[in-house]
Amino acid sequence: MAHLVTLIPGDGIGPEVSDATRLVLEATGVRFRWDVQEAGAAVIEREGTPLPDRVLDAIRRSRTALKGPITTPVGTGFRSVNVTLRQELDLFAAIRPSRSLPGAVTHHPPLDLVVIRENTEDLYAGIEFERGSEAAARLRAILRELAGVEVRGDAGVTVKPISVTGTRRIVRFAFDFARRNRRRVITVGHKANIMKFSDGVFLATALEEAAAYPGIDLVPMQVDELAMWLAWEPETMDVLLLPNLYGDIVSDLCAGLVGGLGLAPGANLGWEYALFEPVHGSAPDIAGKGLADPVAMVLSGALMLRHLSELPAAEAVERAVTRVLAEGAHVTRDLGGNASTGEMARAIAAEVRSDPGAGGAIERRTAEA
Ligand code: NAD
Repeated sequence: MAHLVTLIPGDGIGPEVSDATRLVLEATGVRFRWDVQEAGAAVIEREGTPLPDRVLDAIRRSRTALKGPITTPVGTGFRSVNVTLRQELDLFAAIRPSRSLPGAVTHHPPLDLVVIRENTEDLYAGIEFERGSEAAARLRAILRELAGVEVRGDAGVTVKPISVTGTRRIVRFAFDFARRNRRRVITVGHKANIMKFSDGVFLATALEEAAAYPGIDLVPMQVDELAMWLAWEPETMDVLLLPNLYGDIVSDLCAGLVGGLGLAPGANLGWEYALFEPVHGSAPDIAGKGLADPVAMVLSGALMLRHLSELPAAEAVERAVTRVLAEGAHVTRDLGGNASTGEMARAIAAEVRSDPGAGGAIERRTAEA
């Protein structure tokens, strides 16, 4: 049976890395029914919004989506498509593995880190008061009365809610992930000393839940200290559990530790839906030039294959990426090569096709041919 997957190519380098990923995933022999849905800046003129309902409806039908990056235009009044998708579909857990790969220049010993980021609360909850607005003026008056603080009249305000409910589910998710993947230490990043009532809830809830998971250590660490350790001795880290904003920043940092954004895949998971996308953005500086490294999105596709229980195919894709990187002859500019996005994708797809270990998937393709 073919897997129904909503494919959102995105914009900027999105369509290039999406085409590349489709080629590689199809080389596994796993069958897909791609429901391609456009979203982002390009559809605003036609449909009045960067995220039409049809896109959400499509993901609710397929339950699984593969997405390229989407530009968040500054100052248009539209909310980020990426943030809205995560909230509308309640994709509360972002998983962003950062593993050293051959051929990528790094400054550290081999790393195998995973960032688990809460994806729906915190400063990204979308509770914003625009500088100079009537709502901001009313908020200032309320804060004067409730908190006795005078917020400057020319301030914009973003609110940071962190709940026990929202934290508990991401903490349990992180422990279950650690248990399934035989990981021993979860470092929880926070700033509870300063933000007692938001980060304080995150930390206290994490400590409370940890008691139910003997055998896995929970190490609280202030996020500024965590940043120092990640620069100094990242090899001592294992799973990093973070609220939304810190998770966003730290996962880019971890991508940098293992060779850059072109290599870092991601998954956004909730109880009902799963959306796979690279950590990187739409990279307008290199869009349309064939320079984009397809690996981050290809590896996001491999995470999707695991989610769809296509384990041999996922492993074949991961091995193929490793081989192409190790060989170094068909890699993009960010990795020191001069292959185009398409050339690198074709090299990875060829490795997948010749992988004897792809097991069921490859056999199935041969039988169907
Ligand atoms: P970016 O990740 O797009 O680019 C940062 C740098 O990394 C650039 O120099 C870029 O060329 C490079 N880079 C990124 N991906 C690469 C790849 N696959 N291969 C080679 N080089 C790559 O970050 P940005 O410039 O801050 O953001 C651009 C736009 O993307 C913004 O509108 C932002 O909001 C959006 N964005 C979207 C997502 C998403 O869709 N999930 C995530 C992050 C940023």
